[in-house]
Amino acid sequence: MKDRHTGVPAGMARYVFITGGVVSSLGKGLASAALGALLQARGYTVRLRKLDPYLNVDPGTMSPFEHGEVFVTDDGAETDLDLGHYERFTGVHARGTDSVSSGRIYSDVLEKERRGDYLGKTIQVIPHVTNEIKDFIAIGETEVDFMLCEIGGTVGDIEGLPFFEAIRQFAQDKPVGQCIFMHLTLLPYLAASGELKTKPTQHSVKELRSIGIAPQILVCRSEQPIPEKEREKIGLFCNVRPEAVIAAYDLKSIYEAPLAYHREGLDQAVLDAFQISPAPRPDLTVWEDVADRIANPEGEVNVAIVGKYTQLEDAYKSIKEALTHGGMANRVRVNVDWVDSELFEREDAAPHLEGYHAILVPGGFGERGTEGKIRAAEFARTRKIPYLGICLGMQMAVIEAARNVAGVASAGSEEFDHESGKKRFEPVVYHLKEWIQGNHVIERKSDDDKGGTMRLGAYDAVLKDGSQVAEIYGGTTIEERHRHRYEVDIKYRDRLEKVGLHFSGMSPDGRLPEIVEWDGHPWFIGVQFHPELKSKPFAPHPLFADFVRAAVETSRLV
Ligand code: GLN
Repeated sequence: MKDRHTGVPAGMARYVFITGGVVSSLGKGLASAALGALLQARGYTVRLRKLDPYLNVDPGTMSPFEHGEVFVTDDGAETDLDLGHYERFTGVHARGTDSVSSGRIYSDVLEKERRGDYLGKTIQVIPHVTNEIKDFIAIGETEVDFMLCEIGGTVGDIEGLPFFEAIRQFAQDKPVGQCIFMHLTLLPYLAASGELKTKPTQHSVKELRSIGIAPQILVCRSEQPIPEKEREKIGLFCNVRPEAVIAAYDLKSIYEAPLAYHREGLDQAVLDAFQISPAPRPDLTVWEDVADRIANPEGEVNVAIVGKYTQLEDAYKSIKEALTHGGMANRVRVNVDWVDSELFEREDAAPHLEGYHAILVPGGFGERGTEGKIRAAEFARTRKIPYLGICLGMQMAVIEAARNVAGVASAGSEEFDHESGKKRFEPVVYHLKEWIQGNHVIERKSDDDKGGTMRLGAYDAVLKDGSQVAEIYGGTTIEERHRHRYEVDIKYRDRLEKVGLHFSGMSPDGRLPEIVEWDGHPWFIGVQFHPELKSKPFAPHPLFADFVRAAVETSRLV
């Protein structure tokens, strides 16, 4: 849809640049995602993009402890977890070109320099680095009505400066009215004086203006309602219209954000800033349903996530969200407990896992904690508790079956032998060196550098007719996202199927096991891919919806 002509060339995206100030973790990603959803609700197409100031080339090798989960796109990019928010709120599949770091920008600039692309010129932050950033921002700008670009970090960070300079120039290069700036800040509340303080916001905007960026919209995080008087004051001191000072209050669920921001007038303020008038009316029925399902569950289930990074929930962000979506599909609340698998490496898992209505073992890397995960799979299999194994969680379930049921006593993963440098296991899970993508073969040598050796991104799988997963998906061809280096060895298929562990999903060439399921168990499924990455509140992933349904059944039995 195109709106009234306002000087922006037809078929060109309008840009909203989203920055943050005062403190980090204010929910910039969520505000961006919610704004995307609200613009869609008004009939516009959107794309969201994240520019991160850190120097890592991509988040692929960053510790989930520090940085949260790595979000994988269909096209196989390892990106920031904010892209997960974007997808969950807009349903628009992110691409590799929707996330970039300073590290990537600098490395591209230096590569060009080495190749001689700059013809011997002196390479500088301005214009070479800023141009590289500007080119990145503009990718695909004729495809959507709005491009929403979030800048990571806060204004004033040294690393962020080239990005701020680049967006300033970008807006300057474009016709007037094609770009706006939205800034997120915090209004701290001083209980002693009973006041909201606007000074940090004023300072933050001042800092932004000193580098040439004047925000049209301020989103202010606040625990308390913002009185009209304060709103006017912020408007006056920050040179923003009072109606463009948007309150962002704490929410019970992130999925209330689109409705909450709409109530506060965010989408209207954005359209006003672009002088789009009259603004198309929003259709928010999807978000009203989502909010209703979150706010009014009719029951609850308790799910254990058994893993290694249990101290930092962001490490499994998408899984947590997908479980919430599965709960919404069944109108129940899903209570998640994070259980550290290292607690029962050498002992019975039962005391740690009894009482849960379902067990999920997520993806992971390295041997630490894996014996506990194998015990968790054993517990779920023998007690007939619903089990969802994702990636490493599937591999552990297969190793458990091989060791305890199929008689491969020393079954293990080559990953652990590689790590320890000793040959201790029979590799039921082996190092994948070659696979098919589309029409060509991809080959990996084991000495490839860490970042580049994985099977990454969307691949098709074919499901066995009549299998539980085919029923759950309602079809026999699926496409899911991958991120792994190791793979269950197909040569164990017969032995495992004979004892009841069926290979019910395979790569189209029939060589790579994608899904396993236990016969005679109410719900025991392992998947080599990451279904959590594609789940949305308004379209819960079928595996998560059915996993939670099975958990509800279990809860009725006890
Ligand atoms: N470490 C395992 C592999 O590389 C599993 C990866 C994952 O769980 N994402 O195959």
